[in-house]
Amino acid sequence: MANVLIIGAGGVGSVVAHKCAMNATVFTSITLASRTKSKCDKIADEIKAMHGVTIATTQVDADIVAEVIALIEQVKPFLVINVALPYQDLPIMDACLATKTHYMDTANYEPKDVAKFEYSWQWAYKQSFEEAGIMALLGCGFDPGATQVFTAYAAKHQFDEMHYLDIIDCNAGNHGKAFATNFNPEINIREITQPGRYWEDGEWIEIPAMSVHKPIEYPEIGEKESYVLYHEELESLVKNFPTLKRARFWMTFGQAYLTHLEVLQNVGMTRIDAVKFQGMDVIPLEFLKAVLPAPDSLGENYTGQTSIGCQIKGIKDGQDKTYYIWNNCDHAETYKEVRGQAVSYTTGVPAMIGAMLLVTGVWLKPGVWNCEELDPDPFIEQMNKQGLPVQDKILNEEIV
Ligand code: NDP
Repeated sequence: MANVLIIGAGGVGSVVAHKCAMNATVFTSITLASRTKSKCDKIADEIKAMHGVTIATTQVDADIVAEVIALIEQVKPFLVINVALPYQDLPIMDACLATKTHYMDTANYEPKDVAKFEYSWQWAYKQSFEEAGIMALLGCGFDPGATQVFTAYAAKHQFDEMHYLDIIDCNAGNHGKAFATNFNPEINIREITQPGRYWEDGEWIEIPAMSVHKPIEYPEIGEKESYVLYHEELESLVKNFPTLKRARFWMTFGQAYLTHLEVLQNVGMTRIDAVKFQGMDVIPLEFLKAVLPAPDSLGENYTGQTSIGCQIKGIKDGQDKTYYIWNNCDHAETYKEVRGQAVSYTTGVPAMIGAMLLVTGVWLKPGVWNCEELDPDPFIEQMNKQGLPVQDKILNEEIV
């Protein structure tokens, strides 16, 4: 039915490729391209052995628009699934525009030299994508991604008006390493060392990084210390649901992780400006990434669960109501299924679902869209079928 081109062969790219291959009646032709072709080949071999599906592999430097255009012209995909890094979002969108090819990603653009992510750069493509008759689906992983679908689902089925949104993200897994990040270390560390930010009464409140925290009780996991961070989906959610009086994002961190991070920051290893080392320009955070475990290497022996969801408070039929919708995912189970840990899995499965809804026409519409702007029902239905079962309940007592 559809020919897709996946760009990026890390932890997330691997899961997307596996899950597309596991839905081979929808994704009839799959090409996996990345900077390092050997990583694509390793994933292709695994997919052949585990699911009996052959996928094509190739090399591309997605920072170079002309290379991506040439690749698209060769592969002729219906859709490009960008699961490389946020830096590649704009070059790949430019290539899609030049070739009139649909586009999607899982993280919003950020420039390499400033640790700042926001949607403005990608939203600026809205008119040109509309005029070209192509779609860009932005941020279709779990958070961003499924969390916005959860919020849209709550708005559609549970509330007349939503007032308070808390997105809560817990990884209670243990990978046995002293320090590792669950997705690309450079992007992860840039994200969590930024000041925190949340939306309240029509404005953004900025707080020092990790300064607001409290224990939150997660289903099947128990209490975990959770920290307010700025996360990109807050930007589109407060725009698309203007009745929200407050929107926050919470993530759990273990004490050992925070201590490592503090030391790395104190000694300058999280800097993103170049320093001279033996006559060469070295960016400390890029060097740190090279010595840390790769996210796609954490899966084996990873135990425990993730739990990501939304607690929403609002009004239904004139009454106050608090609603919670979430998914729990088990690291060992996802490794068994696709050789990936649960953080890669919870990102890669929603990306495959977004791709599926796009190529089957269910979500397809020209322009640039965030996940909450599309019908949440078919997405939730697929989450239940594709390995991310969704649970929900009305709360008598707030969790957050
Ligand atoms: P990894 O670092 O494991 O993988 C990134 C991949 O992109 C690597 O294969 C890398 O190639 C490739 N790549 C980097 N630069 C280029 C380039 N210029 N051209 C072609 N390929 C390139 O990261 P993850 O898989 O963990 O994360 C992938 C994306 O998913 C990130 O954007 C991340 O922010 C996002 N994400 C989203 C989440 C969500 O819930 N929405 C959650 C987690 C992650 P090489 O191996 O050569 O370096």
